[in-house]
Amino acid sequence: MPGKVLIVDDVATNRIILRVKLSAAFYRVVQARSGAEAAELLASEKPDLMIVAQALPDMSGVALCRQIARRGWAAGRIPMLLTAARPDPGLRLDALESGAVDVLDMPVDDALLQARLRSLLRNRESVEEMVLRDHTRGMPGLSEGVRPAYAPPERIALIAATRTDAAALRPRLPGRRRHVDVHGGPGFWKSLSTAPPPDVCMVAISAQAPERGLQLLAALRAQPATRNTAILAVLDGAAPGDGARALDLGANDLMRAHASSREMTLRLDALIARKQTADRLRLRVKSGLRAALTDPLTGLYNRRYAMPQLESMADAARAAGHDLAVMIADLDHFKAINDRHGHAAGDAVLQALAGHLRGTLRGDDLLARIGGEEFLIAMPGIARKQAQRIARRLCRQVAALPCPVAGIAAPLRVTMSVGVAMGPGADTLMPVEALLDQADRALYGAKARGRNRVTLSSGAAA
Ligand code: GH3
Ligand code: MG
Ligand code: MG
Repeated sequence: MPGKVLIVDDVATNRIILRVKLSAAFYRVVQARSGAEAAELLASEKPDLMIVAQALPDMSGVALCRQIARRGWAAGRIPMLLTAARPDPGLRLDALESGAVDVLDMPVDDALLQARLRSLLRNRESVEEMVLRDHTRGMPGLSEGVRPAYAPPERIALIAATRTDAAALRPRLPGRRRHVDVHGGPGFWKSLSTAPPPDVCMVAISAQAPERGLQLLAALRAQPATRNTAILAVLDGAAPGDGARALDLGANDLMRAHASSREMTLRLDALIARKQTADRLRLRVKSGLRAALTDPLTGLYNRRYAMPQLESMADAARAAGHDLAVMIADLDHFKAINDRHGHAAGDAVLQALAGHLRGTLRGDDLLARIGGEEFLIAMPGIARKQAQRIARRLCRQVAALPCPVAGIAAPLRVTMSVGVAMGPGADTLMPVEALLDQADRALYGAKARGRNRVTLSSGAAA
């Protein structure tokens, strides 16, 4: 997982100390001495993460973070950590406001730094992966800036080993707008699983019994219902080592229990924004995948989905010693429907036919629209005679199917011809393309013999 880290610091010893720590953990390191140099390296080196000193020769670290966060969306996704010579509560707030994830006080606690880097990079990797898989990327109207018209109120779950400890976090929460649930004690899982899924879980980790909080945190990350929830670990006097463990167990951010209400607000806002972006991406990947594999007119699978699917059905048939019936169905004289009634009427006929076929076939049959008025049907585990019977029945049903078309009083009628091929049988080398080719030739035979009929391939592709 190690990625590329950009260190921005004009003090050579600081850079060297950090570089040694990071190289030992197998990170690739690039270095800049000023904000201007960092901006250049950001474009040319495309780092995965930045560690920025607050004191830079040409600007403050906070100003640099603010500039980067305001840039386009790719640059704005880079996690930024600030380093400061001494603890400064005001600086921490400025840093969080500028888009940085946290401020690390020098000398940096090594275990905490490493755990923080692992956590940030893990999170970044999963977001980047979704961006890559997002087929709608760059499509107008679906760009990152578009937010849903209505966002439900954010839900925050306060979680601790006991309900009393969980409730103790409540007064610390900023008072505005949020929906807050309190979970703890023996009924914890039940109350959590019956409430709507939270956007953020704040998990208390106490100095007296850190293990109990850490166990809760690990369990939250593992449960399907809370797997994508953001987790903010709240350390109540616990040691930095506990913070490092919380990050490694899946916390997205850490905070001291006595931090100001403003700090808590900024951290919650950042976590919620990140989670909402990830949720939107996840949804887009899901619906984008569906759009990539289906035909928008009929909702049937398209050729891109059908071909590998047919391949694996043929493999399964070979392994089981069964045959697969592969049929290509093509509407007869379909061009005439368009010519006579218009393209929209043709579309309505295709939709009616697709709906009928979908309703007729079995769950493990494959049905796809592989051409304009051409459909592929594959049926596993049936014999030649049976395939012929089914294809004939489909032909009869389609000929009798009324296809309602808006604006035309009487429903339209169509017929179709079907070519059937059986395979792959014992032929372990027969590619599915050869089967399709046989079915296609059989279809031509059906068309030549007058249409509205079924022809079986004799077997040979030649
Ligand atoms: P045959 O019986 O020989 O198959 O004749 P045909 O007219 O069905 O075949 P041909 O290949 O000559 O024409 C197919 C027609 O299907 C032409 C095309 O306009 C129409 N078509 C293809 N896709 C669509 C579609 O999505 N919507 C509509 N309305 N028509 C389509
Ligand atoms: Mg055709
Ligand atoms: Mg046709």
